[in-house]
Amino acid sequence: MNRILGSLASALFLCLAARSHAAFDCPLIEGKEGGDRIPLIFYAVGYTQSERASYEADVQAALDLLWMHVPYRQFRHRFSVYRAWTPSLRSGLSDQSDDSTFLRAVERGGYPRTEAGFVVFRGDTNYACKGRDQAFVIYNAGIALVNADLPGAVTYDRRLSVVPRNLHALLHEFGHAIGFLVDEYETGGGSGSISPFNNVSLTINRDSIPWKAWIDDSIPIPTPATAKYADVVGVFEGAGYVSTGRYRSEQQCQMRTGGFGVYCRVCTQVLVSSILGWTGDGAGHQVAVDNVWPPATWVASQPSILTGGNVFVHRFSQDSLPVSLRWRFLGNWLPDVRETLDVASLPGDGVLEAVLEANSPFIRDPVKIPRDTLRWTVRKAAGTQARFGRLDGIRRMGPAMFMVPHGVPVPQWARSANGKRVPLKVVARTADGWLLGGTYGFAVLSLPDPSDVKTESDGGLR
Ligand SMILES: [Zn+2]
Repeated sequence: MNRILGSLASALFLCLAARSHAAFDCPLIEGKEGGDRIPLIFYAVGYTQSERASYEADVQAALDLLWMHVPYRQFRHRFSVYRAWTPSLRSGLSDQSDDSTFLRAVERGGYPRTEAGFVVFRGDTNYACKGRDQAFVIYNAGIALVNADLPGAVTYDRRLSVVPRNLHALLHEFGHAIGFLVDEYETGGGSGSISPFNNVSLTINRDSIPWKAWIDDSIPIPTPATAKYADVVGVFEGAGYVSTGRYRSEQQCQMRTGGFGVYCRVCTQVLVSSILGWTGDGAGHQVAVDNVWPPATWVASQPSILTGGNVFVHRFSQDSLPVSLRWRFLGNWLPDVRETLDVASLPGDGVLEAVLEANSPFIRDPVKIPRDTLRWTVRKAAGTQARFGRLDGIRRMGPAMFMVPHGVPVPQWARSANGKRVPLKVVARTADGWLLGGTYGFAVLSLPDPSDVKTESDGGLR
């Protein structure tokens, strides 16, 4: 009876897998969703339907290990963790190549990664999480847990780490996936090409070392691997799959030894920079911001012109990024300005900048601090006075921006200077009301007329 049920389940699963998009359950199991948070998705490799509880326990063990270690411990609240249930037909890994295992993983495979003890043919590339675009699994960091104890692990495309359940390789592989870190060990015969950035140097020229900000002047380069230099940042020979000609920053590092050890200071800096620099919004910002209005200059030859009103830069709040925001006008810092700046308060015309920085004690190298400078050009003299409409309570915040108090019907249109109707959309919900924006191509919009109000509802994102 059990066998018949098992076969039935297998047949159903095969039908599912044969569809163009196999969609799996991917519940959020830790953290909040959205904003500037970093999605991390677990997958099951070699766990059968009946081994679901075992998989869930293994995912928890992997998370416990991550959250125990610097720097993930400090940034745990920045991750949204999902647990995809991707059952295989076979338990564990086989040495036969077939399609019975999620991702088509095979034990003792040959080329290219025999040292890991297995090969992943990635037979299932057409999978997704239920209710989500396939981009969700393609672009976000993933950890595929393998239901077997094996010596090594692999990370593909600097994104998907395939890690045996003994977790010996988890921290090391996650360093590849989150920080794009390079291997610091010396085996491999130099066959692997490496990018000479972050944590491996191809030169001993002090000024060209990627982590030069960390090296004290008293440290010799190259640095002897002796007890005297056991705990300093230097330039130690042997890294990137060879013992000569490539250099690492400390004698010991998780990216060199694997296991349950710590990352060196330079690798930690890279990981923190990567975590803080995560924006995930596709808007081209270098630091995550919730809303910017009016949009800052994107192309220098097409400056964003401010003729009046307010400029608004809203960071993600609550427990997310520690981002600082400072304003600068004509090169001078403006103290006491928070998220909203009144253009009329600026002395004259010129370039206005909002400087965002996500800093951390783990970062010493200035170029590793995620930083973004948003720019606008203030040209008050060129502004045409807006013709004000008649709706009570609606305030004009800028050239194409309005604040509608809660409880007031939200207009869907404003009028440009030449009388053309321009659609408005909700940009943000604030404590004061709904922030509405219009097409910025129309720099000057008048307040909506009552006839432009098409809805009786109070706000709502459209
Ligand atoms: Zn390192």
